[in-house]
Amino acid sequence: MNTDPQKDTEAIQKLFEGKPSNIVIFGHTHPDGDAVGAGLALREFLILKGHNVNFVLPDEFPEFLSWMPDSKSILIHHDADNLIETLIDKAEILIFVDLNSPSRVESLEHTIKKAMHSKISILFDHHINPEKGFTHMFWMTDVSSTSELLFDFICETGNKHLITKCMAENLYVGIMTDTGSFSYSCNNPGTYLAVSYFFTLGIDGSYIHQHVYNTFTEDRLRLLGFSLSQRLSVNKDSGGAYIALSAYDLEKFNYQVGDTEGLVNFTMSMQGIHFGALMTDLHKYIKISLRSEGLVDVNTIARQFFNGGGHRNAAGGYFYGSLSEACDIMDEIISKHIKI
Ligand code: 5GP
Ligand code: MN
Repeated sequence: MNTDPQKDTEAIQKLFEGKPSNIVIFGHTHPDGDAVGAGLALREFLILKGHNVNFVLPDEFPEFLSWMPDSKSILIHHDADNLIETLIDKAEILIFVDLNSPSRVESLEHTIKKAMHSKISILFDHHINPEKGFTHMFWMTDVSSTSELLFDFICETGNKHLITKCMAENLYVGIMTDTGSFSYSCNNPGTYLAVSYFFTLGIDGSYIHQHVYNTFTEDRLRLLGFSLSQRLSVNKDSGGAYIALSAYDLEKFNYQVGDTEGLVNFTMSMQGIHFGALMTDLHKYIKISLRSEGLVDVNTIARQFFNGGGHRNAAGGYFYGSLSEACDIMDEIISKHIKI
């Protein structure tokens, strides 16, 4: 597997410093703090460079990110179908953040793939195995998040002075959420250099933490308790555990987008557990989240069994079938495929 960075810095810089362009930035489906943070910061940066920029997400982002600076500017596909199609049509440049394939923009995949034939496309990402077909990439895996990667790009191109407090807040959210508040993917000094610079711009770390992590609704907190007490399966012999939530479970707790965010990490908090999963029945498919420790490679498992991917220790995908079939597969994976 090739993990050598690909940084087309000069080519991308030339476009960014060049004549004003119409640009559309895309983040991935089930948007997380890194996709939203990197997308918003890049949007602001490119507006400062004189471009006409829109940031599009294929579906709703979690409510706990709604306080983020400029989040109201985000266009959500199902709310703005025609507008987004027009913007893509008019754009000269399409930019993808925090994803390694246009298929991750799910509902817009077809439109985007068609548009990529005639437009410049740029990838900013840190996931394993980026798809071919982007005109330019700023890509590496040895970095906490796309937000940190974007900070590096901005610095490498001599634009550090343009970073505003709002951009710093958005990038901080990306780094904080992709490292589980600096508890994994967090051994790189560059991560802390980025973050320390954001503090010089006056961001408030405890305010941000409070807004992202401590704004549960009562339903969300009770869903967490229910998941741990009623829906957790543990295989101590193999070192794996998973939580499986049915559509009915979600309905009972008035499920809102983002309510299961972070839940999978609890499976990993048990002694002797090196592989954890969360399976949620979202009606159209079962969403799979995988986590691991050390050499257990969940990226490969996500690719092999769940049409997905991600990173070695955090990945995800989909299962088309029933929740009980998904549980059977997960039991098999845990007993046969986890090698510690
Ligand atoms: P999460 O479990 O938090 O949704 O995602 C963990 C990691 O796996 C993230 O880096 C995310 O981008 C990646 N990931 C999650 N779901 C999918 C998927 O369906 N396909 C791919 N390729 N990556 C995914
Ligand atoms: Mn990310």
